[in-house]
Amino acid sequence: MQSQLIFGMGIISTLLVLPLKAEELLVKQGRYIHLTTDIASTEEAESLVESFDAAVPQWIRFWDLNESALGDFQVRAHVIRDKVKFNQRGLIPATVPDFPFGYALDNQIWVLAQKSEYYTRHLLLHEGVHSLAYYLFNGAGPTWFQEGSAELLATHEGSGNGIRVNRIPQTREQAPYWGRFKRMNQATSDGQVPSLPAVLDYQPSLSGDVATYSWSWAACMILTSYPEYRGTFIATARQGKETGPGFNRQLQTSLDRHWPILAARWRLACHELDYGFDWQRERVALSAQDPVWDGNKLKVEVRPDQGWQSCGIRIPAGANIRLSATGEITLAQKPKPWISQPPGITFQYHRGRPLGQLLYCLLPNANDPQAKQIQPLKVQGIMEQPFINVPEYSWLLFRVNDACGKLDDNGGTYEVSVEVAR
Ligand SMILES: [Zn+2]
Repeated sequence: MQSQLIFGMGIISTLLVLPLKAEELLVKQGRYIHLTTDIASTEEAESLVESFDAAVPQWIRFWDLNESALGDFQVRAHVIRDKVKFNQRGLIPATVPDFPFGYALDNQIWVLAQKSEYYTRHLLLHEGVHSLAYYLFNGAGPTWFQEGSAELLATHEGSGNGIRVNRIPQTREQAPYWGRFKRMNQATSDGQVPSLPAVLDYQPSLSGDVATYSWSWAACMILTSYPEYRGTFIATARQGKETGPGFNRQLQTSLDRHWPILAARWRLACHELDYGFDWQRERVALSAQDPVWDGNKLKVEVRPDQGWQSCGIRIPAGANIRLSATGEITLAQKPKPWISQPPGITFQYHRGRPLGQLLYCLLPNANDPQAKQIQPLKVQGIMEQPFINVPEYSWLLFRVNDACGKLDDNGGTYEVSVEVAR
């Protein structure tokens, strides 16, 4: 990696640690990135270059390509604290519109430095994903696909050579100022979560609206986290030049038979998405072929280390059912095992309910394809509300109340009985 100062002192070595003078720009050359920046920290600039170079091969694998597809791919990146400085030097062409976070034009990208290194790195990667899509696919598709796949491949853990893209941060502290979940959780509490068709319909905008980015990201996550949708997603990316309705039509046609299940899974995922969300644990087994409940007593085991778990049947409209549960689970091992029973542990709360509480929800089989927003998921504790009158054909699902990032050390099971209420 070479380093030089331009418009200042000429070329210096990275080994010379000189404070950057305000009027100078730092230039760093990596394999896939040529970076010009006015951020104060040489270490941060080096780390950005290393992170970018480590991310590109991961992106290529994500798109099911090998590195030969990269050819001469290289971005000319600008990470900017003071836009005026870059404008004065002609480093932001007049054709680039005013941008709130970042902008990509073919192989050139511009990113405004943020209040945290994580968020600056995220935005650099985000714009880099756009550049790569232009290079590989001649375009990045309609808004939801363009922004969602960029968010997907920019969301990361670690930095430098150790960066891992397409990873949801474990905690808020790992990703200061990034704020995606804050915005999404707000929408969930307000009942303002868009339906999947509404996300696919997002129109281009330069405002950099965090909600648009976040829900587009969620759409790309769900479509790539279930193996039955992933192939279609990757194949459709090749049509990146198509930014109009033709792109979505192709995707929706290939996913046609999956759509009702996808819509149901979307409702579940949107309710849960948060730091530490793990798709390995949160994929939900649902099928349109699940049999309709015959009214015989049903026993279901619910694991505390998994997300929503369906009892594998569909409950018919008009059924009156009674739920009961027994069993014991452990929620953490350290400092000592926390034992919980179905009502939960009342000295620790998560989302307003006792930790370890056994939860259920009814998930309707049908969804309104015209709806712009999803119906919020109605989650209840089994012990609080054991009787259910089922208004429409629905799946019945259970989960244990715990933060989605903290499921891995949970053990034990609850046993649930589902029977006709008499
Ligand atoms: Zn973007």
